[in-house]
Amino acid sequence: MMKITILGSGTSQGVPVIGCNCDVCRSNDLRDKRLRTSILIQTERTTICVDAGPDFRQQMLRENVQHLDAILITHHHKDHIGGLDDVRSFNFLQNISMPIYASPESQEEIKREYSYAFVDKNELYPGAPTYNLIDIVDNKPIVINELTIEPIPLTHLKMLCYAFRIGNFAYVTDFNYMSEDSFDKLKGVEYLIIEALRHEKHYSHISLPEAIDIAQRLNVKKAWFTHVSHTMGKTEDVNKTLPSNMMLAFDGLSITIENN
Ligand SMILES: [Zn+2]
Ligand SMILES: [Zn+2]
Ligand SMILES: [Zn+2]
Repeated sequence: MMKITILGSGTSQGVPVIGCNCDVCRSNDLRDKRLRTSILIQTERTTICVDAGPDFRQQMLRENVQHLDAILITHHHKDHIGGLDDVRSFNFLQNISMPIYASPESQEEIKREYSYAFVDKNELYPGAPTYNLIDIVDNKPIVINELTIEPIPLTHLKMLCYAFRIGNFAYVTDFNYMSEDSFDKLKGVEYLIIEALRHEKHYSHISLPEAIDIAQRLNVKKAWFTHVSHTMGKTEDVNKTLPSNMMLAFDGLSITIENN
């Protein structure tokens, strides 16, 4: 059994957007309050999260996460890596460098962004975060304890972004193009979390109609849409228009997947 928790379901600015007075940003529905996109994956033995954006600290506190075995990075946009400094708490608690799985390209950006964590040991500021960067390689499953995670490459404008599949579950965000090969790797997935930025097309993200199309072509049992912009509309209104096995994800939603 595996439990997935939506840590954040919002696009890069989050929802509400600073200074915006639209209906969605002013909504009182908690489902319309979206931190930056991330999920927590938990089994009896293992807890990992996918991405650590600027809201990472708040998300770990909200879900009362006491232990983290690893972080998987989809890609190195700030809304996905901006919270990595707060890994410090787990460094202290667990007395380990946090295993961070990322593409070599994303690792370069992490090293630039958090350069103070990559200096010589004798120059490391006491209390600085420590990371154990591990390559994500195409066609090479990531094994963390009992979990086997298949990385699936996507194109996010000019950037490589990884989707992750664990058995009959997949998490797919931040892309505008998926190769046929990558689509094939998602076949058989029954539970899908996939991004849907807004109704209209976008140059580096897929839209709601495109996300519905992928979910239908994969014939999934259930799909949840994430990385949602305030221009999508209110969750309650959008959900009414969706196929019955699909809905907008919302922060704090937890999904239990049996027989994984
Ligand atoms: Zn993003
Ligand atoms: Zn707004
Ligand atoms: Zn991105």
